[in-house]
Amino acid sequence: MSDDVLTVTPRPGIAERLSRMIQLETVSAELDQRGPDSFEAFVSLLAELYPLVHERLSLERITDFGLLYHWRGLRNAQHPVVLMAHYDVVPVDLTDAWTFPPFAGRIADGWVHGRGSLDDKGPLLVTLEAVENLLAAGFTPVRDVYLSLGGNEETFGDAARTIADTLRDRGIVPWLVIDEGGAVVDAPLPFVAGTAAMVGVGEKGVLTLRLSARGDGGHASAPPTLTAVGRVSRAVDRLGPRTFPARTPRAIARMLGLFADGTPQPARTLLRFLAGVRPLTAQVFAALGGEPAALVRTTVAATMQDGGTAANVLPSQASATLNLRIALGQTVVSTVRRVRRRIGDPAVAIDVVEGSEPSPESPTDNAQFALITASVAVSHPTARTVPYVMMAATDSRHFHRFSPAVYRFAPLAMSSAQRASIHGVDERVEVAELERGELFHRTLLQRLQ
Ligand SMILES: [Zn+2]
Repeated sequence: MSDDVLTVTPRPGIAERLSRMIQLETVSAELDQRGPDSFEAFVSLLAELYPLVHERLSLERITDFGLLYHWRGLRNAQHPVVLMAHYDVVPVDLTDAWTFPPFAGRIADGWVHGRGSLDDKGPLLVTLEAVENLLAAGFTPVRDVYLSLGGNEETFGDAARTIADTLRDRGIVPWLVIDEGGAVVDAPLPFVAGTAAMVGVGEKGVLTLRLSARGDGGHASAPPTLTAVGRVSRAVDRLGPRTFPARTPRAIARMLGLFADGTPQPARTLLRFLAGVRPLTAQVFAALGGEPAALVRTTVAATMQDGGTAANVLPSQASATLNLRIALGQTVVSTVRRVRRRIGDPAVAIDVVEGSEPSPESPTDNAQFALITASVAVSHPTARTVPYVMMAATDSRHFHRFSPAVYRFAPLAMSSAQRASIHGVDERVEVAELERGELFHRTLLQRLQ
């Protein structure tokens, strides 16, 4: 079915439906205290709010908190589209002063307020709205479509991973996966003006290491040259920002090239130059420090330190905890090896507390990225669609292990104040953006090939 013969009329009441979702307090981190009732109520609410989705799509419950809706398409059942979102939210700090109560779902002046409005119930809602509206218009997608909804993303639960494993075990390799991550933002970089749809094409790995050393103990009045505390401190000190080499991911070079196109001189020439010479970009970004540096290399932060028992007693042991974010293209093993070499002290033990590999990098020169770009051009006509690399982990990493085209993007414009409200205070979304988000997904599903 071609889109010019299909008339779709979005249903009224989109803000009210999001408000209903926000009012169910699906706080996964407080599951033990609150119990699972709000999560069950959320599943029932979806059936009530989206009657055609409920009737025409099959729903599988995978683990206690995973929902997998399946919409059969005309062909390509083994290579479907997977639209992901999560319906759990992070807790609210009761000492924070919200303008409206965080779980009231207040609608005021064209905005919907409340915890989860951006992360991630708003993005979840716009996918369901698009599917419901297309079903009402009698549309069938060219490919199979799955909606993969998790209820424990914020607590690193297993719903999304088990859904991904289930599909893989059935021989299904998604043609395209879209999950939360980037958004439509203004002035995406300090020297770049305009609006950009930032699409995450990869995410860094996370690694927690524990360094430890032992000492002989004894009275502190006749100390050795290096106590256990001194040894661990020296090891931490050796892990400066230059521990890891800087390397520009393909996506970052592409991002700079795309930004160059709408940027006036002389910044345009600079951006073009940086886009073309990746080793130089890596050096420039590394020298800038902070976020630019984190885009091009593995970062390391010492987060906890411990050792000794008394002010005048030599410590018999000391330890430090390091949090590392592994750059794309590196691994947990190569990172640990480099840390060990850099410390250069066999008396310091290095243990992996927890590690997850960085994701692969999704291409930007394929039909999938072109489809996202074309859909953004309809929903957000002034935005340039640009790839980037995410620092935070999303549920989509479980699909990225076996599915090459995974993109992290919520089709909603968010100001920097709104982005700061995610996991913070006064989280809110503009109703007009919910309508644009629905249009993005509807366009994408209609233009599938
Ligand atoms: Zn989220």
